[in-house]
Amino acid sequence: MSAIEWIETTKKKEQPIIDGHLFKVKERKSGGKAYWICNTKGCDVRAVTNNRNLVHINKNHWHNCESKEIITRKYANQCKNVIRKNPLKPIPQIFNEERLTFVNNDYNNREEVIATLPNYESIKSSLYRTKKENFPSQPAIRSQLIINDLWSKTIDGRDFVLADNGIDDRIIIFGTSAFLIKACSLQNSVVFMDGTFKSTPPLFKQI
Ligand SMILES: [Zn+2]
Repeated sequence: MSAIEWIETTKKKEQPIIDGHLFKVKERKSGGKAYWICNTKGCDVRAVTNNRNLVHINKNHWHNCESKEIITRKYANQCKNVIRKNPLKPIPQIFNEERLTFVNNDYNNREEVIATLPNYESIKSSLYRTKKENFPSQPAIRSQLIINDLWSKTIDGRDFVLADNGIDDRIIIFGTSAFLIKACSLQNSVVFMDGTFKSTPPLFKQI
């Protein structure tokens, strides 16, 4: 009995790993049937799946499993899932945290997994691409900007938009109400302020 599992491709489709070997698509039929060929060049092992179940595989491979590529892909996919859930989380932090959980998965080849994990440089551009895909697109005019959900909160979930007024001449004030109350209650005190005034998103200036 062959073991089959599925992995997401960079084009957000799925491809099977059958007994540790990666397969690429030959043909997908409507109705759930798909034809596959081994991903290793020169190997012509073919498989047929139906609704993600393996229904046929024609012979054995002459080569070893593609474990390095499979581990790299699984690890990158795990990081990408975290990015999709929380696109504001820094990529290097995700890379390090997921590395720990990934190697603690119940692998029977744990030593090999640790030795084979990709380094940061080799997958960072693919992770940043996923991050970019999960950011809202840049609006052409200020009235198109939508600030909601995740984008209107602090990291610990407090509201961060104090005011949002105007259409084409839109002005937005960011801050927490707790800080505003604190700033207003400082009677007879001198408040020193600073800001990164040059660093602003397009269409806005910081005041
Ligand atoms: Zn093969």
